Amino acid sequence: MNYYVLTLFPEMIEEGMHTSITGRAMEHGQIQLKTINIRDYSGNKHNKVDDYPYGGGAGMVMQAEPVFCACQAAMQEIQKPARVIYMTPQAKVFTQDMAEELSKEENLVFLCGHYEGIDERVLEEVVTDYLSIGDYVLTGGELPAMVVMDAVSRLVPGVLNNEISAETESFSENLLEHPHYSRPPVWHEKEVPEVLLSGHHKNIEGWRREQSVLRTLQRRPELLEKASLSQKEEELVKKYLQSE
Ligand code: SAM
Repeated sequence: MNYYVLTLFPEMIEEGMHTSITGRAMEHGQIQLKTINIRDYSGNKHNKVDDYPYGGGAGMVMQAEPVFCACQAAMQEIQKPARVIYMTPQAKVFTQDMAEELSKEENLVFLCGHYEGIDERVLEEVVTDYLSIGDYVLTGGELPAMVVMDAVSRLVPGVLNNEISAETESFSENLLEHPHYSRPPVWHEKEVPEVLLSGHHKNIEGWRREQSVLRTLQRRPELLEKASLSQKEEELVKKYLQSE
């Protein structure tokens, strides 16, 4: 997976991505990152890339030409059509399903806005996808781009040591994951559920699945509408709802 990030703050992306699991994945060549500083394409000696909005109003707008040239620079390296994702609060909220879909791409270009955003005309010309990371407004698209790259990278083959972990995690099958426990077996007088110490794999699997269904019901009930539950699990849900 090759990431290209068009940004005014490349150091933020570089530092974030060169940490922990994504950092290791870059060392191992499973993912590659190229940051492109939009300011390098300002075309003026003051490196200015923003200007006042037509029509007045607060804040500054990132100008079309530097963004366009930065995007062209990425495309010249990629040498084939690639998705250009503009991170913006004005879009569908990113989900695990989208992460899975994006992880199948060979190249992804992220465009990070700042200030009040980017001149609409260049967005119309270069952007293929608009993505938000949630219904709130951040100062820039760098953290959102890193959120998406992090979620996508975990799904790139070989990035996680334990491949199974991505398959059983929250949101796979529209369920949240079961709770986890580690040593010691008793902590603050709280015991680890007995079944987890039993060594009985089938029972452990059954307990985890049940916990997963209950946790989803308690915390994100709307997800269950899309989950496929067995008859026994449907009954568990019914029983829980009646006991409330
Ligand atoms: N004026 C814009 C609006 O009201 O929609 C918000 C601009 S925001 C201050 C600056 C930049 O941060 C945006 O261009 C976008 O790239 C990024 N951004 C902010 N919140 C975001 C979110 N929730 N998801 C993705 N990107 C976001």
